[in-house]
Amino acid sequence: MSILVVGSVAFDSIRTPDAEHADLLGGSATHFSVAASFFSPVRLVAVVGEDFGEDQLAPFRERGVDLDGLQRVPGRTFRWSGEYGANPDEARTLDTQLNVFADFRPALPAGWDATPVLFLANIDPELQDSVLDQMSAPRITALDTMNFWIAQKPEQLKRTLARVQILLINEGEIRQLTGAHGIVEAAQRTRALGPQVVVIKRGEHGALVVDDDGFFAVPAFPAVRVVDPTGAGDSFAGGFLGYLASRAPDGRPDYRRAAVLGSVMASFQVEAFSLERVRRLQPGEITGRFEAFRRLTRFGEPDFLDALQQRAATR
Ligand code: AMP
Repeated sequence: MSILVVGSVAFDSIRTPDAEHADLLGGSATHFSVAASFFSPVRLVAVVGEDFGEDQLAPFRERGVDLDGLQRVPGRTFRWSGEYGANPDEARTLDTQLNVFADFRPALPAGWDATPVLFLANIDPELQDSVLDQMSAPRITALDTMNFWIAQKPEQLKRTLARVQILLINEGEIRQLTGAHGIVEAAQRTRALGPQVVVIKRGEHGALVVDDDGFFAVPAFPAVRVVDPTGAGDSFAGGFLGYLASRAPDGRPDYRRAAVLGSVMASFQVEAFSLERVRRLQPGEITGRFEAFRRLTRFGEPDFLDALQQRAATR
């Protein structure tokens, strides 16, 4: 199945404890679409300004992302600058310039309303809502957001949330959204707002899926050197939804496997700035890391009951 994504395409300026780079290709829809493209066809709806050149389109084209929904308008492209301290899970926003996003009205090219999978990447929840209005009957709908929008437009965000099946969100942000301290309670309060599947991204601690089946925890891959955490969340979403979209439309969605593939894609994303690692990935690297995740979390059957009982009998 194809995936339609609406979100930001951006120039990012990023400072980590080891390096600093300006005007990197970034944005929520950018990281998402490149990661998801390894699994399923992707259609991008976004806006860029006159400062966005052919060079910046190369990674999308290489990955076969359909750009018919990418508007180019007068003005400057969205810009975000952020910084990471010792804790790579905490991005500090230094500056957000909406630029061409301030007047962006997403418009779907003809026929795109029937796209079966919809991902509303991190963007103004009002715009996310307007894309939902334009869709005919998507089978899978998912949304991501961030502290900026939870603080700026909480009521609009809740209205939009009520219309989607899956929410992907950071641990700190779900606390901010719900006011709950424990993440289990935060997930339950969020499910009461609408989405039946809540995926809580916990940075270097992995992710937690909460759905009708209960809880599923997936670790982050421990063996990578984190060069730049930017885009990890969107790449996670790309692996997660890319996998779901690649499966038979009528099958039962396997959110667990999807979360592992989300972690796989996020683990590659953080190994380099911008798209430098992910755009060059080979399919075998993805399956190889999936296997590594299996080894990481496999711990066998409880074959020690007899020993426990013997011990109990001898005391
Ligand atoms: P993440 O995957 O959570 O690290 O998201 C990183 C991307 O989000 C960056 O490449 C930014 O360009 C983008 N971003 C940051 N702030 C915003 C915002 N307020 N709205 C939309 N996108 C944003």
